[in-house]
Amino acid sequence: MASTDPNCIFCKIIEGKIPSRKVYEDDEIFVFHDIAPWAPVHFMIVPKKHIPSMAQLTPDDAALMGRIMTLAPKLALDEGCRPYPDGGFRVVVNTGNEGGQEVHHLHVHVMGGPRPWLRG
Ligand code: 5GP
Ligand code: ZN
Repeated sequence: MASTDPNCIFCKIIEGKIPSRKVYEDDEIFVFHDIAPWAPVHFMIVPKKHIPSMAQLTPDDAALMGRIMTLAPKLALDEGCRPYPDGGFRVVVNTGNEGGQEVHHLHVHVMGGPRPWLRG
C-alpha cells in the first residue's frame, strides 16, 4: 500500500497542502480539529500513512493503533475535555459507507466538552 494517496484530502492536510488547525504531530501520527465540529471539542487522530479505513488494518498496525488510542485521552484533556468520570470524551471510527465514513483515510474522531452537542 502506498504511504500517501495524492487524491486523499487527509494526506494533503498531513503534507500541509491543505491548511488545518493542528493539535499534535509526530513521525507517524497527525492530529487536527474537525472543520465541522459536532461537540465543543472535536479533533481527529490520523496515521500519516494512508490506510483507507479500519478494514485494511493488519497485525503490523497494532502498535500504531495502540499509540493512537493511548494518545486520545491525553489530547482530550489538553484540548479542554474535563477529566473522567464527570467529563470524558467519545471516540468514533466510521468505517465504510454503511459505517458512515466520508473520508477514506483512517481517522479516529475524539469528541467532548459540555453538553448539549450539535450531534451525537
Ligand atoms: P467521517 O464521516 O469520514 O468519519 O469524517 C470525516 C470528517 O472530516 C468530517 O467530520 C468532516 O467534517 C471532516 N472534514 C472533511 N473535510 C475536512 C477538511 O478539509 N478539514 C478538516 N479539518 N476536516 C474535514
Ligand atoms: Zn490519505
